[in-house]
Amino acid sequence: MKVVATEKALRAQVQRWKSNGETVGFVPTMGALHQGHLRLVEEARKRCDRVVVSIYVNPTQFGPEEDYLRYPRPWSKDRVLCQKNQVDLVYRPQNLYLSGASTWVFEEELSKGRCGGGRPTHFRGVATVVTKLLNQVQPDRAFFGWKDAQQVEVIQRVVRDLNIPVQIEPVEIVRDRDGLALSSRNVYLSGQERDRALAIPLLLQVAVGKVNSKAWLIKTLSKIQGIKLDYVEKSQGRLCVAAWVGKTRLLDNRVLPLKRSMSSR
Ligand code: AMP
Repeated sequence: MKVVATEKALRAQVQRWKSNGETVGFVPTMGALHQGHLRLVEEARKRCDRVVVSIYVNPTQFGPEEDYLRYPRPWSKDRVLCQKNQVDLVYRPQNLYLSGASTWVFEEELSKGRCGGGRPTHFRGVATVVTKLLNQVQPDRAFFGWKDAQQVEVIQRVVRDLNIPVQIEPVEIVRDRDGLALSSRNVYLSGQERDRALAIPLLLQVAVGKVNSKAWLIKTLSKIQGIKLDYVEKSQGRLCVAAWVGKTRLLDNRVLPLKRSMSSR
């Protein structure tokens, strides 16, 4: 497995593979890898000859009060996980932004509301960094988790609108044994907070079976002590939740049965 930090070294390697007729799958991450990330790697390995993983904690997608500085960065562990999962190349740049950079990718419709409501510059940061990474790696396919459902929607739109020649491949959410959606931020949860957080996947699962799933989930989750609901919304045939447990904001969603995904309740 190669580890490179520069765009030049990355492009040289990808170019060599492509000139041999090999296809390239790309998994962008912020590191602190878990089985959710590794599922994306697995999908990439199934569908492409070579797999590139990027590890970069992107400062522009964090708000000023958010956890950029304390975001976990366990590089030695990540490196071993990539190696064990047959990643061909890890791209680990120090910094992706030139000083004085003044160009942004701003998707103006799907970025509004939900996560974009409470985090007004978040999707601008995501769209910009993903566009930069896609331009640098030039993969055939790029893999994203449904865990961040709005992110999938925004990226698909950006790729379509800007004619970026890549196939976006969304991958289903991977959960811990207790049902909690895996996230690098779960390490922030205390034991008690984690117990409380389990109400989110449990109630979400019950909600998707109900006719008035959205209204029911809002009402039920609002009553749970220790959980502060940010939003419940339907999108892309999914019921999506964001909620605070202590100082940690958690996301989750589940596919709705076909008929239920059409109504707004
Ligand atoms: P992150 O490192 O949090 O930026 O995530 C990198 C990629 O992994 C994104 O496409 C996420 O949606 C995806 N991802 C994160 N957690 C999960 C999960 N539990 N299941 C599936 N994909 C995930």
